[in-house]
Amino acid sequence: MKNLAVLGSTGSIGQSTLEVVKHHPDRLRVVALAAGKNRDKFLEQCRIFRPEFISLATREDLQWVLDALDYQPRSAPSDEGLLHCVEAEGVNTVVSAIVGASGLRSTEKALRHGHRVCLANKESLVVGGTLILEALRQGQGELLPIDSEHAALHQLLHGKDMTTIRTIRLTASGGPFREWSLAQMKKATVQEAINHPTWKMGPKITIDSATLMNKGLEVIEACHLFGLTPEQIGVTIHPQSQVHAMIEMHDGSFQMQASANDMRLPIQYALLYPDQIPSPANVFSWDQPRTWDFHPPDLNRFPCLRLAYQSLCTGQSASIILNAANEESVNAFLKSHITFGLIAECNEAMLDTFPLQQPENIDHVLEIDKEVRLHTQKWLEAHR
Ligand code: MG
Repeated sequence: MKNLAVLGSTGSIGQSTLEVVKHHPDRLRVVALAAGKNRDKFLEQCRIFRPEFISLATREDLQWVLDALDYQPRSAPSDEGLLHCVEAEGVNTVVSAIVGASGLRSTEKALRHGHRVCLANKESLVVGGTLILEALRQGQGELLPIDSEHAALHQLLHGKDMTTIRTIRLTASGGPFREWSLAQMKKATVQEAINHPTWKMGPKITIDSATLMNKGLEVIEACHLFGLTPEQIGVTIHPQSQVHAMIEMHDGSFQMQASANDMRLPIQYALLYPDQIPSPANVFSWDQPRTWDFHPPDLNRFPCLRLAYQSLCTGQSASIILNAANEESVNAFLKSHITFGLIAECNEAMLDTFPLQQPENIDHVLEIDKEVRLHTQKWLEAHR
């Protein structure tokens, strides 16, 4: 039995995770649930799954939920609560689906405990990099990606001798601005950017998909997960989002993984690996005509993807800088404080000017992250 702590349970990945859990009551059980501010949704989830440990961002919201429940789970608020969820008795599998760098500490702790970590929080690997891999090695747990492209790669690379692999390739839908000109994109509104053509996701990752920063973060994530160099990882635009990744063997042949674009698939894969049993995901039908397109990304229109490669070649702290700057600039865009075009401009300015330093531990990572955010906020303030 997999006993789960689901961190970020009211977000898009968290909700899909709970649907998978409902589908496999004989294999999956919820022990701990943590979320941020959506207390109504959280209360509903607690009533259904009756977790033994719960956490929300604030003490007030947590008390509100506790007062409404007909049983008394143990509880703790905020970041401390996330760590308690990971350590709750019986937990052996952690779904890390908190948005942004704030998921880092709980991911690291879960790995040190030797748990299986199903990672939707790609920022943990982007900013934590080698430190996260060190926690994985020391705790001897498992790290399974929930990102659809990385779950696809995990399947494609399973059992393969890595020396037989020449390159890997992540696909990207291209987002809502795939065919827009640079001038059009610069003035894009929040409404236009939030309207993703193939995936339904939270606001931060949807904007990251529109700038292709999401793909950039995924390239960094793949480097760490599969021990590859930046030169070995390519990106291909594939608007239908049905081929999720490909691997190229040294002899020039390619293997691809395809499925319906339904996040419940990679989530179930990570939870139940190595078993691939029937899932609640939508059935992929070959009875209707289908066309798949593939083309190379345009780095002039999507500079954020170029920045991700640049940061990978510079070192760990460059990825921390890029990620923190991006979280702040996306946030400012979502509040309509800056234009869409300024997201990439801000990220590039921070990457070019913020001093590099090698992080020694997770505290140090979070310290750099905080400094970059303050610096970015000043830049954003000046460009409003
Ligand atoms: Mg993805």
